[in-house]
Amino acid sequence: MAKKQFKAESKRLLDLMINSIYTHKEIFLRELISNASDATDKLYYNAMQNGETGFNRDDLAIVLTIDKENRRLTLSDKGCGMTRDELESNLGTIARSGSLAFKQGVESTADVDIIGQFGVGFYAAFMVASTVEVLSRAEGSDEAFLWKSNGADGYTVEPAARAERGTDIILTIKENTETENYDEYLEQYRIQGIVKKYSDYIRYPIRMEMTKSRVKEGTGTEDTPAEYEDYQELETLNSMIPIWKKAKNELTDDDYNHFYKTKFFDYEDPLCHIHTSTEGAATYNALLFVPARAPFDYYTKDFEKGLQLYSNGVLIMDKCADLLPDHFSFVRGLVDSADLSLNISREMLQHDRRLKVIAGSLEKKIKSELQNLLKNRREDYEAFFKSFGRQLKYGAYVDYGAHKELLMDLLLYHSSTENKLVTLEEYVSRMKEGQKHIYYATGETVAKIELLPQLEMLRDKGYEVLCLTEDIDEFCIKMMHGYKDMDFKSIADNDLDLETDEEKEQIKKLSEENQPVLDAVKEALGDKVSKVQLTGRLKSHPCCLTTKGGVSLEMEKVLAAQNGESSPVHAERVLELNAGHAIFEKVKALQAAGEGEKLKAFADVLYTQALLIEGMPIDDPVAYANEVCSLLV
Ligand code: ADP
Ligand code: MG
Repeated sequence: MAKKQFKAESKRLLDLMINSIYTHKEIFLRELISNASDATDKLYYNAMQNGETGFNRDDLAIVLTIDKENRRLTLSDKGCGMTRDELESNLGTIARSGSLAFKQGVESTADVDIIGQFGVGFYAAFMVASTVEVLSRAEGSDEAFLWKSNGADGYTVEPAARAERGTDIILTIKENTETENYDEYLEQYRIQGIVKKYSDYIRYPIRMEMTKSRVKEGTGTEDTPAEYEDYQELETLNSMIPIWKKAKNELTDDDYNHFYKTKFFDYEDPLCHIHTSTEGAATYNALLFVPARAPFDYYTKDFEKGLQLYSNGVLIMDKCADLLPDHFSFVRGLVDSADLSLNISREMLQHDRRLKVIAGSLEKKIKSELQNLLKNRREDYEAFFKSFGRQLKYGAYVDYGAHKELLMDLLLYHSSTENKLVTLEEYVSRMKEGQKHIYYATGETVAKIELLPQLEMLRDKGYEVLCLTEDIDEFCIKMMHGYKDMDFKSIADNDLDLETDEEKEQIKKLSEENQPVLDAVKEALGDKVSKVQLTGRLKSHPCCLTTKGGVSLEMEKVLAAQNGESSPVHAERVLELNAGHAIFEKVKALQAAGEGEKLKAFADVLYTQALLIEGMPIDDPVAYANEVCSLLV
């Protein structure tokens, strides 16, 4: 059976094209400039093929002209131009790309940067123009033609005149409507801004006559007040050279820093940069920077992560979030890939598999650069960690710890013995013989942690303890479970298991002897604690609180701060008493003498003090003060 061709309602198709492909109307300029650049590239390529020299990219400028009075915006190029047939087929057939055909015909090593491939970009002009005229004279021809269209109605082509080879795209800008402002496309600063935003790295100069103002000669002196006059100046709007496409050995740190500061509006040099180009599953150039400091809104909802995404030097998206995982959201920079097409919508782009491949490989590169920094520029890394460590910890915690393997090596904690920030790797590498866990303590500040009674015994044994002072810390540690086969253990854990067998035996014996005392204290405290026991972990302190199970006092505190009083999560508390302390003797005597009331006061005060030491809120400060007084008199 003979196959039939689909028919298309070209009017409807064009309408769809004009109104649905692009989210922003300003994109039309990017598309037209890209076409002009392609046409110039083709000319340049053909000239080289024919052995013609004497072409200089600088002479092949793309020129923009604004004619406010007639509502006209004109784009002129000195490119290859189009013949009558080409005007008909390239601009008369939707989705026909002369550029794609050209690209397929050139040698793969050719120095061309062809952008077009879909054959739809040109129609973006109708988003802002009521009439589009294309006056073109093809390379090697002395005839010119004028293509003209008002949009969906179709087009005409007729002979015309043009002095030189090349193309003028003449847009008659639409009148403003109630909801749309089209006048802005006749404002020189607006046009300048759009060029800078999307087409800054087009390799040919994009120039525009700018109207500027200056003080009239002879005025502005002591006796004549300043008068101003307008004058015209041809200005190049784009910077042309995408530094990420240059070879690394051509660039200095200063080049990178300067680029970073102007491009990303930072006044400080970045801490480091990553410049890579990769071929393979996805071919791309990337230039990434780690800022020296977190932007003021970094830890707020307003912060928007993402890298700039370019296709052949033309900006497609300003903040492409999918290129950066949350844990590295502080990275600034850009990715340029010829694989990604300009004309597809954001929504489609987000599902592009190549984007995921790029994101995955960038993640690895960022990690290895951070590890380099950690290894070779420790002080800088610590400064970095001060700004962004919280984000890394958060990254290790979220998604049920899915990223912990990637991030653990990058974390730093304050060490009780080294008195500085250390990595988990460093901790594990110097663990003491017989040490079973990576110990950590939690508290508001390092100074407060150092005062914790529980720390005494670890200090005696010479064990290093990591001091955790941020609210995310313990949640993150619990999610990570351990590091290199060593698990994490809180020094406030009830089964700290630090005593020798001998010490354990001794405590067991003492506990049996003093069971009635321990029972009495437990009874006095009621539900406040789940257990009262003797401990070997204290030296000079009479008592401390420890917890059993997954929730610690510190976590309870954090959750309560987040959820208010109604927080349903409570730590299971154990009051541990030091049998060697004089206070214990007192309690023992009270129990023996049957002084129940006084014993209760003692128990309450000891418990409340333990809470205070842990930095926990106490239920009734007045009752506590009264009880202390009653014991003093
Ligand atoms: P694409 O750029 O993706 O090919 P466009 O719709 O933007 O699609 O353009 C269609 C075709 O029209 C181009 O492929 C090119 O052949 C031709 N064209 C557009 N603008 C110009 C120009 N300024 N000079 C020469 N040819 C052009
Ligand atoms: Mg195009």
